Amino acid sequence: MALQYDDQNIFARILRGEIPNKTVLETEHTLAFHDISPSAPVHILVIPKGPYVSFDHFCADASDAEILDFQRTAAKVCAMTGVALDKGEGFRAITNAGAHGVQEVPHYHLHILGGRPMGRMLSTA
Ligand code: 5GP
Repeated sequence: MALQYDDQNIFARILRGEIPNKTVLETEHTLAFHDISPSAPVHILVIPKGPYVSFDHFCADASDAEILDFQRTAAKVCAMTGVALDKGEGFRAITNAGAHGVQEVPHYHLHILGGRPMGRMLSTA
């Protein structure tokens, strides 16, 4: 996919160390950190270190190693934060893309939300 990546977006700046973050887990290809404005008791953002705008961009263009590392890291974050199904009560993993997805930061990220019942998936608005 030929998508323009804005390297001044806030998550690119976090990855360069220009802005602090509360890291949960970091691997070769992936960073997981607390959302600055949590919508639930557990609200973690998992991001690839590579310059991918959105979920579909990442899935189309990232290497197998990046994708595997991302997914495994997300699973570890679920376990570390106590929301994974083997010990916890579950979670919601969501990603927003573009204008209709109401994506605020144009660097692919997975929200992992839990620690309370998350309600219906979508509002009707
Ligand atoms: P989006 O709407 O793009 O799916 O979600 C962007 C998320 O990034 C929001 O939940 C917002 O609270 C979070 N966010 C925005 N700026 C920062 C920041 O500087 N640090 C952290 N940790 N999270 C941020």
